[in-house]
Amino acid sequence: MRIAVLGAGPCGLAAAWDLSLAGHTVTVIEREPRVGGLAATHRRGGYGFDLGGHRLIATSPRLLARVRDVLGDALLERERTSVIRMGGKTFRYPLELGDVVRNLAPPEAAVAIAGYLAGRLGSRPPDRSFEDWVTGRFGAPLYRRFFGPYTRKLWGMPPSRLAADWAAQRISIPSLGDVIRRLLGRGRGTPRTYARRYLYPRDGMGQLFEAIARRVERAGGRIQTAREPTGFRTARGRITAVEVATVSEAVEEVGEERVVIEADHVISTIPLPRLARLLPDGLDDADARAACSLRFRALRFLCVTLDRRELSPFTWQYVGDPRCIFTRIQEPRQRSPFAAPPGKTSMMLEIPCDAGDAVWTADDAPLLRRALADLRTLGLDVERDVTGVFSTRAEHAYPIYRIGYAAHRDRLLARIGRVPNLTTAGRQGLFRYVFMDAAMAMGFRAAARLDAGSPLGGRDALGYREDGDLLEVKSVA
Ligand SMILES: Cc1cc2nc3c(=O)[nH]c(=O)nc-3n(C[C@H](O)[C@H](O)[C@H](O)COP(=O)(O)OP(=O)(O)OC[C@H]3O[C@@H](n4cnc5c(N)ncnc54)[C@H](O)[C@@H]3O)c2cc1C
Repeated sequence: MRIAVLGAGPCGLAAAWDLSLAGHTVTVIEREPRVGGLAATHRRGGYGFDLGGHRLIATSPRLLARVRDVLGDALLERERTSVIRMGGKTFRYPLELGDVVRNLAPPEAAVAIAGYLAGRLGSRPPDRSFEDWVTGRFGAPLYRRFFGPYTRKLWGMPPSRLAADWAAQRISIPSLGDVIRRLLGRGRGTPRTYARRYLYPRDGMGQLFEAIARRVERAGGRIQTAREPTGFRTARGRITAVEVATVSEAVEEVGEERVVIEADHVISTIPLPRLARLLPDGLDDADARAACSLRFRALRFLCVTLDRRELSPFTWQYVGDPRCIFTRIQEPRQRSPFAAPPGKTSMMLEIPCDAGDAVWTADDAPLLRRALADLRTLGLDVERDVTGVFSTRAEHAYPIYRIGYAAHRDRLLARIGRVPNLTTAGRQGLFRYVFMDAAMAMGFRAAARLDAGSPLGGRDALGYREDGDLLEVKSVA
């Protein structure tokens, strides 16, 4: 079979890997000049920067075996240390009531405990929004101090307009018993749902996907970067070919060169609304409204090289303070000692924004000045250590789970399902906030179903279930 895979992120590459091993003719079309998608690594002058700090937590032994097979000794096992910086204080992440109480002044600590107990023990309103979900489990004082400001800054909207699903998927809730034991100083380890240990390739998360891309090519697959689909050719309702154009390095302009890639099946991992707009017969008004409603939050990463050995002992530092422009401070060297030249380090500041807005388009120099001033307010003065700065950007960093989004997503999935030889999968393709291992599992699953002659599509594409990070694709037909 001739298969076109749209997107060379974890999902698309996983599908391409298995399909090329199974002897199919695979062509991967990727818009960026590099593979890896959101899990790519950008390298400059001996420094490596992921698009936000990535860690691999492989829940499936099969996935883990395959990752070990491609990376061998280059796979490091690391331990995560994360904190929240707030009002000149440092709190453990994920939030622990005992730690919060020890860090706050007694009156505020008492209010936090009372609010927490009221949230946990009182009757809970329905979980409509992110705000309802968190307030019902952690209480209003902790919501107002920590969750609310961070979430508003990250998503650029009030948490009362975000659906509760996102909180349910991403926030671990320790049992009340655990919390009380910790408050009494008898807590052990970390909350059950929170993994401290993770896997990380020595040359950045992108190393994994660069290695998988080489496996695809070794098995006969082709990977075409800096190309994007501009339309489909069809016959009797089926796709027969993908029209592809080159993309300039700036990634905005479509170049002149156009090619046609014949395909018996297409697996798409590009953003769901973009795929919907490429459909051969166009979209009716309701589908077009659904496509407009599904939006993504973007991230700009300020990658700063530093002439010092270490910034801090922490891998991730969360910054909810609305006065600081960034939401997280990452130090790549804490993930791999090979992320910076010997004796040096770097920091990456994650700045949430919308594609095309003032933050997205700002020059590096003024953004760095602002970021350094914000860092000083947190007690981190690194200005004199800065040796260089550059930016990377992720336009589709987070699918925005605005209340009501699921109906729009399901509408587009149903529309796409009417094309029998088109499968949409992955984080962008299903508008689903999943991690790398789940995205890869989707890719393997899509490949297995296609190879077995029963491709995922239509109602099947809707049939998936998530248990935390574990994803299982199942048929609901
Ligand atoms: C800041 C941040 C931190 C994260 N941290 C972690 C973490 O610690 N652990 C973890 O497991 N996961 C993490 N993730 C999630 C992880 O990056 C994703 O789950 C994973 O990359 C999804 O893989 P995917 O292939 O489905 O999508 P993507 O990685 O988004 O790949 C989609 C690909 O399609 C390409 N594409 C888009 N449009 C087009 C087009 N029109 N034509 C052709 N190609 C196109 C894109 O360039 C991209 O390469 C993080 C994500 C972010 C944003």
